[in-house]
Amino acid sequence: MLNQTHAPELTSWVTSANTTDTDFPIQNLPFAAFRRSGTNEAFRGGVAIGDQILDLAAAAKSGVYTDLAQQALEACSGEDLNPFMDMGKQAWSSLRLALSETLREGATAQTALQSCLVAQADAEYKLPCQIRDYTDFYTSVHHATAVGKLFRPDNPLLPNYKWVPIGYHGRASSIDVSGQNFRRPCGQTKAPDATEPSFGPCKRLDYEVEMGIYVGNGNELGEPISIENAEDHVFGMCLFNDWSARDIQAWEYQPLGPFLAKNFASTVSPWIVTTEALAPFRAAFERDAADPQPMEYLTSDANSANGQFDISLDCLIKTEGSAEENHLSTSNFKYSYWTVAQMVTHHTINGCNLQSGDLLGSGTQSGPEHEEAGSLLELTRGGKEAITLANGETRTFVQDGDTIIMRGFCQRDGARRIGFGEVASTVLPAKS
Ligand code: CA
Repeated sequence: MLNQTHAPELTSWVTSANTTDTDFPIQNLPFAAFRRSGTNEAFRGGVAIGDQILDLAAAAKSGVYTDLAQQALEACSGEDLNPFMDMGKQAWSSLRLALSETLREGATAQTALQSCLVAQADAEYKLPCQIRDYTDFYTSVHHATAVGKLFRPDNPLLPNYKWVPIGYHGRASSIDVSGQNFRRPCGQTKAPDATEPSFGPCKRLDYEVEMGIYVGNGNELGEPISIENAEDHVFGMCLFNDWSARDIQAWEYQPLGPFLAKNFASTVSPWIVTTEALAPFRAAFERDAADPQPMEYLTSDANSANGQFDISLDCLIKTEGSAEENHLSTSNFKYSYWTVAQMVTHHTINGCNLQSGDLLGSGTQSGPEHEEAGSLLELTRGGKEAITLANGETRTFVQDGDTIIMRGFCQRDGARRIGFGEVASTVLPAKS
């Protein structure tokens, strides 16, 4: 699975890509849709390298690239990456190799590509592709158990959890890129001791630390994707904050599951880190011997050997009027009860067709310890125990003016550290 693009000793002629703390060394090469901020330029594809962006529309016209890599660059030149994502794994890999070769220290393409760079500090982003459909899974057993205890103390984990990768179909229309500011939602809620529900602004607004998984090329209706082929359909991943209104959720969720508590805002990071870039950071998928083992259609040797992704996830809060970032929690995607391949295979096992640009949420990624919880609902035990931030303020749920920031990175001996950048979004007061 590893190739020359992952070699830890590679350096770039873009010198900011060679610092030890950059998220975007030459081993990463993630994709976004960008333009120079404050202009009317068309959005187009870009690849992050150090603190710069390689403008892929400009690179396509540079005369540097040929064959499949050139076709891939042309597919990245429009405002959405779907045409490129739809080309499939061979095209993704060809372009990655060509970009790695031409951005390397000593590459003769440096002269031609120098003028294709735009500083990230001068850029603004939009969603990297058209997200056609959005499905949110629930793959952290630690989150599912902790939340289940709050909603159903006697019956926290329902019996299907350990057999079925649980998910629901969400709405794509309210997903936006980092920098999203949204109004606190209003809705129906009912306090446990109230006889009737009331209407008003959400009082228990929460974030959820998730990974977003982008489908590259989809499948035909009626043709399930086997677990052996599942990752061939996964273009890459981003950071994902699935904003949630807990009080609305508690009243509306039975019997059909999440609805208005979940579809008012969800925020993705601008950069898609490709599945290929994540190859050095795979981990074994292990299922406790005391638990049911996954059914055969959710099992493969490759999935057992390295089905998981070791991605460290940090969550922070910035409160109104303060520049200080306060740590909330750290977790890791490797704790997921189901793997990305299992999510893709399960989603299509009934014949359901995935399409290029579909987004799968991983579900809140809480770790095994209480401090590793990926939501305030868990950290504050359902709002019963306020947490104290580093700046001295306290929180049970998210307040107006709060900005939630998530960062992710992969680090391991023998590999170059890569990161996801960040996703940040801010809550505005409810519409009056
Ligand atoms: Ca969620």
